[in-house]
Amino acid sequence: MRQSQLFTKTRREAPKDEVSKNAQLLIRAGYIHKEMAGVYSYLPLGLRVLKNIERIIREEMNAIGGQEIQMATLHPSEVWKQTGGWDGVDVLFKIQSRTEKEYALGQSEEEIVTPIAQEYALSYKELPLAIYQIGQKYRDELRAKSGIMRGREFGMKDMYSFHESQEDFERFYEVAKEAYLKVFSRAGLDAKVTEASGGAFTTKLSYEFMVLTDAGEDDIVYCDMCTHCANTEVAEAESGGTCPKCGEGTLAKARAAEVGNVFDLGRKYPEAFGYTYKDKDDKDQTPIMGCYGIGTTRLMGAIVEVLSDEKGIIWPESVAPFAVHLVALNAESAELRDYADTIYSGLCERGIEVLYDDRSLRAGEKFADSDLIGIPYRVVVSEKTKEQNTFEVVKRRTGEVTYHSEEELYASLPPAGGPESSLSGTEQTATI
Ligand code: ATP
Ligand code: MG
Repeated sequence: MRQSQLFTKTRREAPKDEVSKNAQLLIRAGYIHKEMAGVYSYLPLGLRVLKNIERIIREEMNAIGGQEIQMATLHPSEVWKQTGGWDGVDVLFKIQSRTEKEYALGQSEEEIVTPIAQEYALSYKELPLAIYQIGQKYRDELRAKSGIMRGREFGMKDMYSFHESQEDFERFYEVAKEAYLKVFSRAGLDAKVTEASGGAFTTKLSYEFMVLTDAGEDDIVYCDMCTHCANTEVAEAESGGTCPKCGEGTLAKARAAEVGNVFDLGRKYPEAFGYTYKDKDDKDQTPIMGCYGIGTTRLMGAIVEVLSDEKGIIWPESVAPFAVHLVALNAESAELRDYADTIYSGLCERGIEVLYDDRSLRAGEKFADSDLIGIPYRVVVSEKTKEQNTFEVVKRRTGEVTYHSEEELYASLPPAGGPESSLSGTEQTATI
């Protein structure tokens, strides 16, 4: 895409009403637009990042047999009354229509997905079943000061599974945990798995996926040697102590953001809706249910918090809005522009996603914008590269500079979506 055509612009000053780094950088670089506290619109660059995050999640959910659907976000009040959520869920947004009918905005979708499963999965032959969606959620959060990490409207992937037995649920729980760790590592983050109580849902065990960042709202202790990690709300362990799991490492305390979690819901929702299926002996049984969330917009915010420096954002290749930022210097010269255009076409023809800075601006301004926007590779095209047929490629993350001929340049840059992307990712092939 030509940057001269991109309708968003960068800005030097951080917005005064934002305290979080993620919102400041994303607004300055033109990724998001604030509507009010906790509510943001996603602009062209921001939407590209969000779609990349969603693609990674979709691929991993499909790989474990999840079937994607899109559920309604405007909910009838009846289903929420049936489960007790209408009065019991404090963050639920309630709406009254002009005909005095009441509705809820989806803050989670157990009330919608359980009746859907109940309509189709009526025999043990249809179980296990895992259904997910990626969409908007609405929550009446009291504080919304963490930018896109705590929204009143935000993006979530939520999956729900239904099983014949606790044993089968636990088998899938492990599979889902592994898939979650893949999602976060593909998105460029190191997530730790904590054990925590199931909160409002149940007294059963749940797992939270935590990314270490001061922008988070959770306190955790983790082992410096093994995978042990616990939320300090429930953990007895103190920082500085010896790890209870491996007995060798030392526990450290840290601030973290919960980017995902998985819950054992037991039979709560199927029971609320009177959902039973026929087992092998034709007897009525109530399924066991699990739910699995990932905050897509929070994940985007966490990436910015963890992967940025004083100049701006540093996107991992897998989620970056473009793989390459092609910066043409002296773009006001027609001759130079023609030449830069051929390099741009050369990259595009090879399936490399390029943001092409063809604007007539000073080099310093272009580089500052490029650092702020944070595309993984910057390629400069100038009189010098034209004369010498040598291109300078700067890696945003490390600042490492390499030099390439035109052909080497095309071969050295990554294809769209990064090395791990699979273009057939939307196809459903796996079974749960
Ligand atoms: P938190 O404790 O941070 O409020 P939660 O326990 O309420 O999170 P869930 O209801 O399990 O979270 O939602 C699943 C995921 O959705 C969370 O792990 C988180 O990544 C994301 N999430 C939850 N609330 C928000 C929010 N207000 N804004 C953005 N993402 C959110
Ligand atoms: Mg919450």
